[in-house]
Amino acid sequence: MKYIFITGGVMSGLGKGITAASVGRILKNRGYEVTAVKIDPYLNIDAGTMNPAQHGEVFVLADGSEVDLDLGNYERFLDIELSASHNITTGKVYRSVIEKERRGDYLGETVQIIPHITEEIKSCIRGAAGEDGAANGKADICLVEVGGTVGDIESMPFLEAVRQMRGELLPTETVLLHVTLIPEDTMGDLKTKPTQHSVKTLRELGLHADIIVGRSERPIGTHTKRKISQFCDLPQQGVISAATVPDIYQVPMEMEKEGLPDVLSRHLGLEKREVSGDWYHVVTREYTSRVSVGIVSKYGIEDVYLSIKEALKHAGRALSTEVKITWLDAERCEENQLREFNGILVPGGFGKRGIEGKIDAIRTARTRNIPFLGLCLGFQLAVVEYSRHVIGWEDATSAEFGDGRHVIAILPEQESVTDLGGTMRLGNYPVTIREGTMAMDLYKKAEIVERHRHRYEVNPQYLAQLEKAGVVFAGVYKNRMEILELPGHPFFMATQFHPEFRSRPARPSPPFLGFVEACRADAGRR
Ligand code: GLN
Repeated sequence: MKYIFITGGVMSGLGKGITAASVGRILKNRGYEVTAVKIDPYLNIDAGTMNPAQHGEVFVLADGSEVDLDLGNYERFLDIELSASHNITTGKVYRSVIEKERRGDYLGETVQIIPHITEEIKSCIRGAAGEDGAANGKADICLVEVGGTVGDIESMPFLEAVRQMRGELLPTETVLLHVTLIPEDTMGDLKTKPTQHSVKTLRELGLHADIIVGRSERPIGTHTKRKISQFCDLPQQGVISAATVPDIYQVPMEMEKEGLPDVLSRHLGLEKREVSGDWYHVVTREYTSRVSVGIVSKYGIEDVYLSIKEALKHAGRALSTEVKITWLDAERCEENQLREFNGILVPGGFGKRGIEGKIDAIRTARTRNIPFLGLCLGFQLAVVEYSRHVIGWEDATSAEFGDGRHVIAILPEQESVTDLGGTMRLGNYPVTIREGTMAMDLYKKAEIVERHRHRYEVNPQYLAQLEKAGVVFAGVYKNRMEILELPGHPFFMATQFHPEFRSRPARPSPPFLGFVEACRADAGRR
């Protein structure tokens, strides 16, 4: 097992996760099996209870763990399935050490950050990498991304663990890649000082950057690279320019051009291999048409719905259709604005705010024959909308929002739940697709698996009446409704699960594919 450690300098939000995922893709395109570990130095056990508006999307893995959105990037770039052990948090590490202390595993010892916490971190990394036979089988190379910025108090024990691991491994078994910012001054000159300082901080921690990826608005020239090379003590080939590109899937290609594969091979003692497979072709397929999709949400922040954005892109590439997304404020969008779009998407969400606006948007999509895709909360609200405006149950609502006719009810097993962390219906569950439905046309099989994250469901009490009134539940799990569609509409589909989490560049999610195809047909009609 070889390890690529990825650290970040200067500031957060530089695209360290995308850089790491791209490094993985470069190796994967050369036939190596790559896995990834993300370290989040916060005290939460997982991302499940965090506000996505602050921290970005909560990604859900197959095993139901709620994790950082970078794990989504890893799954998409590397086409792998990760598990809970691949997201290490300070919360998990301390909980485990404290449990061991209470059990008496350290009897007689004073339990300390070094060695107890650092040993725990190292064993978590090794475990996730597959050395202990854990998760994901056997990879050749493991990416380990340390969240945060070097110098943060929170990430100190993790960087110390990395330092120790680097000492324990052979020189060709580990490489440290440092992602930093190369800002421009008012004269348009690229400045290397912040990078010099963050590399200095790394050195103080006993870590040497083998590769520096410089994030900048425009490509970094030889002059700047030479300067970084001199001050940061690495060969000039080790300085990789990573200017901002319009699409994240271009990043691996740009890094190829910068010579990163050679640099990595040299450090890790890997033989030279040519690129195989058609991943680069898939992610750059030419667009021949364009559609506009409105996403109705209460957050104006794209990162909250990162996987949806990517899933639309995957479906779009497969159909050579560029999907232009407009983020619409659920509390403000008007019917005539909505009618401009080739498709309307109502994503998942929690709580009451923005609900009425989303219901209005679904009504517009239904009555104006605009392609519609509803996800999780969007599915539940499609049921509420239909109940109110077609069946005539004016007081129809979800139990999540208060009094009324609960066409959406709490899952029976959720009634006794008191803790909020990790207790929803989470992760993979099978769904049976019914014959003769649009869902069957898209999935092309009767048994599928999709990822979930919810506490509420279609109330079985109202099921018969909903079906009689024309709602087709095209996918079910036992007596739990998972997919709905409305026959006679160009495309009206909603899912209780989150199909966006399983979408991959080369394997777009079927509901997204159907939706974008319908949007394209809508654009053709206008
Ligand atoms: N709030 C809804 C529920 O808990 C929907 C969840 C979601 O959209 N992820 O069932």
